[in-house]
Amino acid sequence: MLGSLVKAFVGSANARQLGALDGAVRRINALESEQRGLDDQQLRQQTERFRQRLAEGATLDEILPEAFASVREAARRALGQRPYDVQLLGGMVLHQGRIAEMKTGEGKTLAATLPAYLNALSGKGVHIVTVNDYLARRDAEWMGSIYRLLGLEAGVVVSGQDDVERQKAYMADITYATNNELGFDYLRDNLKFEARDAVQRAPQFAIIDEVDSILIDEARTPLIISGASDEETGLYKSIDRLIPKLSPEDYEIDEKSKSASLTDPGSEKIESMVAELMQEGSLYDVRNIGLLHHVLVALRAHLLYHRDVDYMVRAGRVLIIDEFTGRVLEGRRYGDGLHQAIEAKERVKVERENRTLASVTYQNYFRLYPKLAGMTGTAATESAEFAEIYGLEVSEIPTHKPMIRIDHDDQVYRTGKERDEAVCECIAQSHRLRRPVLLGTVSIEKSEHFSKLLKARGLPHRVLNARYHDQEASIIAEAGRLGSVTIATNMAGRGTDIQLGGHDASAEDFKAVSALGGLLIVGTERHESRRVDNQLRGRSGRQGDPGESQFFLSLEDDLMRLFGSARLDGILRNLGLREGDAIKHPWVSKALEKAQRKVEERNFEIRKQLLKFDNVMNEQRRLIFSQRRELMEKGEIATLIESMREDA
Ligand code: ADP
Repeated sequence: MLGSLVKAFVGSANARQLGALDGAVRRINALESEQRGLDDQQLRQQTERFRQRLAEGATLDEILPEAFASVREAARRALGQRPYDVQLLGGMVLHQGRIAEMKTGEGKTLAATLPAYLNALSGKGVHIVTVNDYLARRDAEWMGSIYRLLGLEAGVVVSGQDDVERQKAYMADITYATNNELGFDYLRDNLKFEARDAVQRAPQFAIIDEVDSILIDEARTPLIISGASDEETGLYKSIDRLIPKLSPEDYEIDEKSKSASLTDPGSEKIESMVAELMQEGSLYDVRNIGLLHHVLVALRAHLLYHRDVDYMVRAGRVLIIDEFTGRVLEGRRYGDGLHQAIEAKERVKVERENRTLASVTYQNYFRLYPKLAGMTGTAATESAEFAEIYGLEVSEIPTHKPMIRIDHDDQVYRTGKERDEAVCECIAQSHRLRRPVLLGTVSIEKSEHFSKLLKARGLPHRVLNARYHDQEASIIAEAGRLGSVTIATNMAGRGTDIQLGGHDASAEDFKAVSALGGLLIVGTERHESRRVDNQLRGRSGRQGDPGESQFFLSLEDDLMRLFGSARLDGILRNLGLREGDAIKHPWVSKALEKAQRKVEERNFEIRKQLLKFDNVMNEQRRLIFSQRRELMEKGEIATLIESMREDA
């Protein structure tokens, strides 16, 4: 059966790779009846036998078929879920240290237990990396019963735990944790004074769930541990008050690169306003460079960073909103004084500029693992970056059942207002039939906007507000219920399964929703990256379910405005578009894809730049961290110090 699945990809490199795993799948299947015959204790005893064989020199690859067969049987007993052949394939791809692209709903969580178990047999620990604490906890608990049945322990690291709890979790055979916790624990461990206080063991193997999100999207901001410096914060406030006095001729801004500069009249105006703060000379003199920096950063804060889009203010703090997920990035601050400038603009307490004590990019953190693997529904569009930065290749795993979702061409309107109208009309129509709809937006602000429009039409709906992951999960789990309308930012509630008919759907509910065509995905704007659009679409049509997706766009959308809308406007005019009309045309989709590609490339460049800087520091970091460790682990350090003194 698997052969026929793989044949769908015949000829491609992907097919050859997967074809090579066909034999192993057959071997695992052949072991199935024997595994069924074992009682729980015998099943568990196999773990000891595998360890024994590894100790005697067997390789992980040699015991893979039997180990996978054991996990399959354990999963069947513990969860009532028998991993499908395609999940075995996914598991093998992960074990090989590659990225398994598996569509939403294909069961990545379960697939990961196979290589996790196999690699944990070495006793050095396996990390499964999730995008939030909620998923770490859920998956550790959910999959924990499989591991326990096989005599292994799963641990979970989440925020708020103390070092004792962390140590215990990291000592477990398999540890579930977010990239954030892992990275910060690494940094904190390397700032400790005693080796025994470190919570992590040496990294061995990490399986990263939603790998695109973690290794691409989040990799734009490094992890930083910092301490307060004694810098003056009052200046931010004084400069902030000047910005509203400027008029548009006084500055130039560039939305694409998020940069701002003063024009000549603007510089003069500022110079006259800050005269008493300035050293001799002009604002551009070296002596005034600090002041100029404050002005520019305040300009950016006012003109380029928007409340509830780029950041939000909560309990007197400015919190960065992740542009991809619409979620708050806890604990992160903009660098270079920008965060302080925004705090001044929002009239909240300006925190001291921080001094970096330790920092690392996700790129360099994850490259510490001798073996790395990842899984996601959407990796192919970014395969070049995965290969170049992480040496990770992408394998597309076929779906368990054929995918039958219908993805319509985009409908493009001239103005945002016409588009909004069309979106509401589409939802109203579906709602009359009680067909469930998931409305995807690019930001929390846009979610609120559509919520208002629907309310005005008397359409009941739920909004995901990006505040609590567990709440999000429970709302999104109901998005497939008969008659439900859900509004969410494109990636909110990731990792939660949307079942047709609802979370605990009866066969009847499932049938009713299926008959209506399944979950309808309505996109309200194209995201900067094609991948995120695909993620939104992927929320529908899981596991062979019926489904449909439609994006409604307008020439006023940011992406259109910034790239290629002039061209599109021309196309639309040529085709004679009237108010309220939409256009569906392959040209439009092509132009859009091109724009998205441009943004994707630019973002890749930004990440490469960040990495270039970090690579310089990385050399130092590795050296210093390893020297510190050596010093801490050695009982006797006099000779080492002696030799260092000699060197110096
Ligand atoms: P993904 O992360 O790939 O989108 P999940 O891991 O959330 O998917 O799994 C989707 C759903 O499919 C879950 O409800 C899970 O319990 C179920 N599932 C996964 N694998 C199997 C299986 N082999 N048999 C039955 N159900 C499965």
